[in-house]
Amino acid sequence: MNFILVNWVRYCTKEAVKTLKLVTIGSAIVIAVVCIKYKPAYKVTISGETIGFVDNIDIIKAKIDKYMNDTSGNIAFREIANMPEYEFKLINRDKKTEEKEVMLAVQNLTTTTYKTYAVTSDGEQKAVVATQQEAESIINELKTNLNPEVDLKLGIVEVYETENSSVSKDNAMLILNEFKTAKVTEYETKKAEAEAAAKAAEEAKRAEEAKKRKKTIVSEAQSIATTTRAEASGNINGMALSIPVSGSITSRFGVRSSSRSSAHTGLDISAPSGTGIRPITSGTVTYAGYKGSYGNLVIINHGGGVESYYAHCSAIYVSVGDQVGPGTTISAVGSTGNSTGPHLHLEIRLGGSPVNPQNYLY
Ligand SMILES: [Zn+2]
Repeated sequence: MNFILVNWVRYCTKEAVKTLKLVTIGSAIVIAVVCIKYKPAYKVTISGETIGFVDNIDIIKAKIDKYMNDTSGNIAFREIANMPEYEFKLINRDKKTEEKEVMLAVQNLTTTTYKTYAVTSDGEQKAVVATQQEAESIINELKTNLNPEVDLKLGIVEVYETENSSVSKDNAMLILNEFKTAKVTEYETKKAEAEAAAKAAEEAKRAEEAKKRKKTIVSEAQSIATTTRAEASGNINGMALSIPVSGSITSRFGVRSSSRSSAHTGLDISAPSGTGIRPITSGTVTYAGYKGSYGNLVIINHGGGVESYYAHCSAIYVSVGDQVGPGTTISAVGSTGNSTGPHLHLEIRLGGSPVNPQNYLY
């Protein structure tokens, strides 16, 4: 009985050892296979999306940290909605672990805000540079040799933007010098115009006085006032003027009516369609064609800031650039454009502004 028991124990032990050996070998094979096929790594995800795999979690964390806290150049700060999460994994040995890929994904999901300095004029940004010193020195350079009457209204503002639009100081100088030149030219043109307008006003005043003197002489002579309109004349800036067409005046300068929203800018002289129109004095044709409510329009520049307009014509006989004199028939009376019947709309402009033709004619 004892012998049987001993044999049985011996048998069991032998079987157990055998099983253990098998299990050990099996496990070893499994581990070997796993080690050949897989390697340990960290899966990196952002908001649940896998952006790559890395070997070393500390290195990638440090790299991302450095990137997010980078304030070199004009970087003000960087923002990312969610930071990456890491998960330990056994991954296929064929699968590459790449920090580059992870960094690219992080960079793509990051918004970088830059702080730059804009040189402004009247609050409008003209050029953006990297530093405040650059902006200040640009303003100082612009102010040198500048007529103090020309106010460029310069200023500096800090600009926070997600794209760095700053340019080199030299480039900013180029842009702003161009702006400065334009402003100086604008100032000089305005000044010249103001001087010309003052001169024209002075001339007009003198002409008005001369006309008054002439009127007195005419009334003293008790002569043919209304019937010889074609001979009526005057002068402007020393140029002798004659009326462009005979006829009766149907609408005077400055009159407002139901058909017009603003004051009348000229003098309407009624005449049969086709009647020849002659310029008030010699000059150069600067416009000859259709123009909105003017209809067929001829504009003549007489120099010295004096222009005359002949509107609503039925025909035009001259072209731009033509030199015309008081004897030239430039066009014919008509009713084109905004017109209710054949008439000449005569406009005289001084320095671009319509004036009352009756101050110089009739
Ligand atoms: Zn008119």
